[in-house]
Amino acid sequence: MPAERYDVAVAGGGLTGLVAAACFARAGFEVLVVEGRERGAEGDGRVSALTVASERILRRLGAWEGITGAAPFRRMRVWEAGGGAEIRFDAAAVGAEHLGHIVPNQVVVEALEAAAESLGVAWIRPARVSGLALGSGEATVDLGATRIRAGLLVGADGADSLVRKLTGIPVRGRDYGQLGIVCSVRPERHHRDIAWQVARPAGPLAFLPLPDGLCSIVWSTERAHAEHLLALADEAFRHELEAAFERRLGAVEWAGPRAGFPLRAIRAATYSAPRVALVGDAAHTIHPLAGQGVNLGILDAAVLAEVAAEAAGRGRDPGGRAVLERYERRRKAHNLAVHCAVDGFDRLYRAGGAPVRAIRNAGLAATHRLTPLKRRIILHASGFAGDLPAAAAPLD
Ligand SMILES: Cc1cc2nc3c(=O)[nH]c(=O)nc-3n(C[C@H](O)[C@H](O)[C@H](O)COP(=O)(O)OP(=O)(O)OC[C@H]3O[C@@H](n4cnc5c(N)ncnc54)[C@H](O)[C@@H]3O)c2cc1C
Repeated sequence: MPAERYDVAVAGGGLTGLVAAACFARAGFEVLVVEGRERGAEGDGRVSALTVASERILRRLGAWEGITGAAPFRRMRVWEAGGGAEIRFDAAAVGAEHLGHIVPNQVVVEALEAAAESLGVAWIRPARVSGLALGSGEATVDLGATRIRAGLLVGADGADSLVRKLTGIPVRGRDYGQLGIVCSVRPERHHRDIAWQVARPAGPLAFLPLPDGLCSIVWSTERAHAEHLLALADEAFRHELEAAFERRLGAVEWAGPRAGFPLRAIRAATYSAPRVALVGDAAHTIHPLAGQGVNLGILDAAVLAEVAAEAAGRGRDPGGRAVLERYERRRKAHNLAVHCAVDGFDRLYRAGGAPVRAIRNAGLAATHRLTPLKRRIILHASGFAGDLPAAAAPLD
């Protein structure tokens, strides 16, 4: 029996793969998602700070209504540990109601699964891509027990992407030598819808607002220290956390289960191979300090679908070379700019010594006072500005 054919096959049903699948289906393509995990498998505890651009895309896909417990944050405060300068960002400075929402990844995945299903997306799961044959007109994808064919294969299979490896696309990377510890906590004082982050010499510690006064922490710190923190008894961990956060929200009264994620930045040399496009972590990962990773992946997915749909509308091949090149041109420079900014920020904050600290503090204080620069940072980091796909345009 010949292998079944789809317009688009998406390898990986994580957040970016599902956005890609739903965007393509909404544009009228026949789409299949291949996902390695069972439906309903538990999440890994990660949360994301979704930008306004991501929110608009999810709204257009019909997924936003399914996201329960999204906590909006209206302000951000970033300061240097030990009494350094502080920078504050406020949604009001750009005339907005909020800068983004904090949402558990698993909640977004489930809402996107439902939206993708109602848009007619097909699934094969649990199944993993295990081999590829790339022809000039289509990709043949090996799924172990079965095979499928697709005019375009979207590699959305995460940082260790097998699709990327099978196509021989090389990556450059930097291991930060850190783990990001993620856990829900209840601080004594309410977060007041503020995303808080203290820059510490070993890495940043963020308290991100959740509903009911809870916060999700992302504590990036050197591996040995992170392993020590992960092994601590609950009370000892809460005390170390309070001290590291300089008790900005008082005592930490409760902490949920902790999980640690190795932090590395990777960049694929190219985002495409014949009949293949990489999106999300398969193409790039960055340090979580600016909360941008998944948002870049969502934009990749929406731009890829937009470019392919435009080509199809003009009677051209939506999985052909011109589309893949256009996609890469629109996304790679943007992702690289964010990558460099985030990487630079990490290096700056980890550099020691009193002179560096003085320059850093002066820079932070100056940025805080420079309203036009601050406005620009807010507009870009929150997804109000930039080369955005039509799906991220304001809704009426
Ligand atoms: C500690 C931490 C905190 C973070 N905080 C933020 C934040 O605040 N804001 C933000 O924007 N980003 C954040 N990020 C980054 C964000 O989590 C990732 O960028 C995002 O989850 C990547 O999504 P993805 O869909 O590209 O990849 P993944 O989430 O890795 O999904 C890949 C999917 O592919 C499947 N898969 C893998 N291999 C195969 C295969 N061979 N065949 C089929 N399926 C396969 C997997 O099962 C998985 O479902 C954070 C990351 C970390 C580590």
